[in-house]
Amino acid sequence: MSDLFLLLLLVVAVGIGWLLGYQARRERRLSHLAARLRREYFLGLNHLLSERSDEAVETFLRALEIDSDAVDTHLALAELFRRKGDVGRAVKVHQGLLDRNDLSAAHVHLVQTGLAKDYLSSGLLDRAETLLRDILSKGSAQQRIDALVLLMEVYQQERDWQNALYVGQQRLYLQPDNPRLRSHLSHYACELAEQALSGRQRQMAYDYLKQSLSFDPGCGRALLKLTTLSIEDSQWRPALRYLKRFQKSNPDMLSEGLASIVEVYRALERPKALVKVLVHWHSTNPSATLLIAIARYIKAEEGYEQAHAFMIEQLNKRMTLRGMRYLTELELEQQSGLQPQSTRLVANALQMVLDTKAFYQCGHCGFHGRQMYWQCPRCKEWGAIKPIRGIEGD
Ligand SMILES: [Zn+2]
Repeated sequence: MSDLFLLLLLVVAVGIGWLLGYQARRERRLSHLAARLRREYFLGLNHLLSERSDEAVETFLRALEIDSDAVDTHLALAELFRRKGDVGRAVKVHQGLLDRNDLSAAHVHLVQTGLAKDYLSSGLLDRAETLLRDILSKGSAQQRIDALVLLMEVYQQERDWQNALYVGQQRLYLQPDNPRLRSHLSHYACELAEQALSGRQRQMAYDYLKQSLSFDPGCGRALLKLTTLSIEDSQWRPALRYLKRFQKSNPDMLSEGLASIVEVYRALERPKALVKVLVHWHSTNPSATLLIAIARYIKAEEGYEQAHAFMIEQLNKRMTLRGMRYLTELELEQQSGLQPQSTRLVANALQMVLDTKAFYQCGHCGFHGRQMYWQCPRCKEWGAIKPIRGIEGD
């Protein structure tokens, strides 16, 4: 009996020893894995912060092999794939996560939003819309805002301004004090006004432009379009009122209102008042375009000497290449056949330099060109393109 007892005791001791050893080995292995995982995460983060996204992806992939449960790491990786343009792999990671049934509601929202962004960036707009509408129907206020932001992008890409305006207004209800959102809504209404005009629905165009001003009372695009429509309808007083509002709310865009203000005062047969207004506009925000327009009127009304003296005085205050080019043109016109060859050469040189310069620049992404756009062709931001200022600009 005692031998058997000793044998049993020995077996139990060996068993406990093996178990303890197993536990210790397991803990060592787990802590080793955790340490490796930590190392990989920090390495990946370091690559991300150093903007080395290729290395970051490889590092996070190694981390996922160690810990397949880490939802946040999966999400970060899918984001990286999308940013690198590998949308297929981003979709795969997101769909893999959605197939799991152990995700929290917050994680499900993040995965669905990520998937909608994947669809959006790969042009699968219908799928993005369906997914976002689903989020919209059941999400919290912040989740609904996230979905509405993306839905606005979906409709913008489709140029479906009616729906863009509709979901934008839903977002405005949740974010009433968001000026950028108000500016976007304002431009959507302007797009709808352009469509209405193409369909010869003039009153509808007026209504959309007024709606645009209800979102952003200083929207330069809506004010200029209302001015143009009023001029076409010989409504001079309303046209002047819109131009006054435009001047107050868009001091950096005054050159864009020049054609309209000239037309209104010409129709009212008040050339002197026009020059007065242009001088006022120019004094609030100096512009080569306005300066040249004023000089042309002075030349027509008072003659070459006055126009020349005005240009010299103004260019001494604020030099611009466009102003200089006009001054040389003025001198060449006046002294036809007598001017020194050097004036002609200077005029040509200025023209050649100006031919290479952009007139407008996007304050959001830096895109520049010679044509005015209300939406930047590169970054798609609304109302960010303005005339370039300074010696080489306006
Ligand atoms: Zn831009």
